[in-house]
Amino acid sequence: MMDKTKLNFASKAIHVGQEPDEKTGSVIVPLYQTSTYAQKSPGEHLGYEYSRTDNPTRHAYEKCLASLEKAQYCASFASGMAAIHCIVESLNKNVRIVCSDDVYGGTFRLFDKVFSKHGLYFDYLDFSNLSQVEDFFKQHTVDVCWIETPSNPMLKLIDIKSLSQICQDNGVKLVVDNTFASPFIQNPLIQGADMVVHSTTKYIGGHSDVVGGAIMCNDEEWFKKIKFLQNSIGAVPSAFDCWLSLRGLKTLALRMQKHCQNAVEIADFLSSHAKVKQVIYPGLEDHPNHYLVGQQMQGYAGGMLSVNLDLSLEQTKAFLRHLNLFILAESLGGVESLIEHPAIMTHASLPAEKRRALGISDAFVRISVGIEDINDLKQDLEQALSKV
Ligand code: PLP
Repeated sequence: MMDKTKLNFASKAIHVGQEPDEKTGSVIVPLYQTSTYAQKSPGEHLGYEYSRTDNPTRHAYEKCLASLEKAQYCASFASGMAAIHCIVESLNKNVRIVCSDDVYGGTFRLFDKVFSKHGLYFDYLDFSNLSQVEDFFKQHTVDVCWIETPSNPMLKLIDIKSLSQICQDNGVKLVVDNTFASPFIQNPLIQGADMVVHSTTKYIGGHSDVVGGAIMCNDEEWFKKIKFLQNSIGAVPSAFDCWLSLRGLKTLALRMQKHCQNAVEIADFLSSHAKVKQVIYPGLEDHPNHYLVGQQMQGYAGGMLSVNLDLSLEQTKAFLRHLNLFILAESLGGVESLIEHPAIMTHASLPAEKRRALGISDAFVRISVGIEDINDLKQDLEQALSKV
């Protein structure tokens, strides 16, 4: 039989783990909405015992996700935070994790308010200067390095290949949160990372109708710990969430291409607007890490952009209220365009001085560019900006 994991990305997303059902011919992986499975005699079963441990719909979804991230193993979770929690839980006590300084606010909160109480140490560094990171590794005993690229919301890019070399040389494991790029744009394991984590709530689900998370890796021993914890802690996704996410995956390639194409146009449009101070988008040539778009992102700069408006806080809020198509909401990666105000919304859990140091001002907005018609999106931004 053909090895479908060798297919190209768009074909894998539609076929891996998704053979037509042997009993019925169902083309779509059935929704196995069951908590338990009949056994012929004690211990004699068909591979499934209880749905916290495993479920056929979840299994199909994890198989497909693993192939898209070019990983051998995948475990899915009830949320991105549950996946992140599981990775940290799988580490020993007293480990030191060095983290990029503008990680997602919820990740910072979990590290700072929950795990730091349990004998783990966290340091936050600016990874745009890798020699500084290397110096830090030489001066401290570091166990794990945790990054997001593109980062949230400053959209800084980190050179995964160079960093993974530095990590290997210093005995440090590298974890990459690949939520913003999606596996269509970037495969960190191929660049040398040890583990990848996703909030599948975003591009992977793609339709803003499911919250989920996933971990992928090639390290058998580490994965055994992850599977043990996935079952022991039990923060697993429901069969229906897996079914929805698997359906979302089928169009990931198409969606990502359109997200990126629309984002390039919006970045160009806003860059020349009189009420805009600065557009931060990795696809723009003035972005300090622009070269990495070609090097590690296959030429796709992603669907996220951040904007510093030339407006006061009140004017910025009014602009957000005047938008008709861009929905004012947290989250990202869905087919619809979303806009948000990090200082008040997603990054409110960061201390104010940290937000300021990162450049998150009162006139700073983050946009998740959807796949609507580009002219409608531009028109909506223009009309809202013209009213403030
Ligand atoms: N990682 C990143 C980069 C995120 O943006 C988010 C959520 O926004 C998470 C992790 C957490 O994922 P979830 O909201 O699915 O728990």
